[in-house]
Amino acid sequence: MPSLQSVISCLSDYDPSALPVEQANRIIAEVIEPVSGIEQVAIRSALDRVLAEDVVSPIDVPAHDNSAMDGYAFSSAALQAANGGEVTLRVIGTALAGETHGLTPAAGEAVRIMTGAVMPAGCDTVIPQEFTQAVPGAGSEAGSESGGEAAGEAVRFAADAVRAGDNRRLRGEDLARGKPALNQGRVLQPADLGLLASLGIAEVKVRRRLRVAFFSTGDELRSIGEPLDAGCVYDSNRYTLHGMLRRLHVELIDMGVVRDDPAALEAALRSACENADAVITSGGVSVGEADYTRQIMAELGDVTFWKIAMRPGRPMAFGRIASNGHQALLFGLPGNPVAVMVTFYHFVRAALHRMMGADIAPPPLMRVRSAHAIRKKPGRTEYQRGILARGADGQWEVRITGQQGSGVLRSMSEANCFIVLGHEQGGVAAGDPVEVMLFEGLL
Ligand code: AMP
Ligand code: MG
Repeated sequence: MPSLQSVISCLSDYDPSALPVEQANRIIAEVIEPVSGIEQVAIRSALDRVLAEDVVSPIDVPAHDNSAMDGYAFSSAALQAANGGEVTLRVIGTALAGETHGLTPAAGEAVRIMTGAVMPAGCDTVIPQEFTQAVPGAGSEAGSESGGEAAGEAVRFAADAVRAGDNRRLRGEDLARGKPALNQGRVLQPADLGLLASLGIAEVKVRRRLRVAFFSTGDELRSIGEPLDAGCVYDSNRYTLHGMLRRLHVELIDMGVVRDDPAALEAALRSACENADAVITSGGVSVGEADYTRQIMAELGDVTFWKIAMRPGRPMAFGRIASNGHQALLFGLPGNPVAVMVTFYHFVRAALHRMMGADIAPPPLMRVRSAHAIRKKPGRTEYQRGILARGADGQWEVRITGQQGSGVLRSMSEANCFIVLGHEQGGVAAGDPVEVMLFEGLL
């Protein structure tokens, strides 16, 4: 793993006191490597886990050409022969799904076929039942639901009701044997479990779960159940962190509240480092008098302190700490509750994905109109909390939630998206387009 110093020394315009969001993310990405442990799990237990190997399809899915409709299978040569007129075919039998059949229609013949049934030899097209008519005097009515024994009937249909190859599913069109079905790094979704099942695969190799330890720092913090002394606040960051981390399917180690006391902080950081892959703290990374966090973090490893050019969430510590032969990645987040969430989503989330070996695209940004003017200075990235909804004219528009202070957690709770105002961007006029990042999928 490259050291922080070696990564930073390669940057020509590195300024830790006004670091652009993108540059911080680039440094973080370069320092991180995925954990190496691998487990084999049953596919149901693989939901939300990170695939540790490429899965190559051992079979063709579907295994045979088959019908996509209930209807009649025939050779498309009959369409050319009809030359835009009517096609009449004698029905020689019925092909049901899940059976093999030896039906081989000759020219002028068809096979009644059900959805999923194997295409008869020589047939490449299926005319759906509802486009056909029974030929009078040739048995029971085609096109009805009566079904039954079809042999001996005849059907007719307009040649232009279907094109050659229609309503036929090709062997291997879903997954071809020998081709990669899923790539390593994939965070397995419900469709992937089904896809693995369709290949007959019972178990897959996944990366071991990441262990993440977290604690809050500050003498003013009280835990739920304790009396709220004058000048104190309840610790909320551990709960938002718990929620955000749960969504990443990591193993959580909640270490509670740690006082602003050098010995207590050192003990907590060491214990976290010895038990987890990553450590997340909140509070104490700004330059406050009673904040010893920075000093202790710096003593335990390769840690850098940034003022990020963003709002909210300026101060942040990042690096690697070591204790008794164990190493862990460290994220020292700001104390303010909104800043914790914003820095988590815009730095920590992608970093943890990388540690998990997960190949996840950055969340998409949508461009929508701003319902009102927003003040913004160029030179920092802002993550305002927004509510995306349809405006009076039916178009999507976003408005900011009331108070945007970095201590106002209600702004996150009410919002359904971040309004992302880029580093270079200035103020926004009412009606201007802005980029939003939806919470759905992120949270
Ligand atoms: P700090 O970064 O430690 O100076 O904290 C900045 C602000 O965030 C202060 O007002 C703290 O009281 C508040 N704060 C810090 N940690 C927490 C927490 N865990 N829960 C709620 N508020 C917090
Ligand atoms: Mg503090």
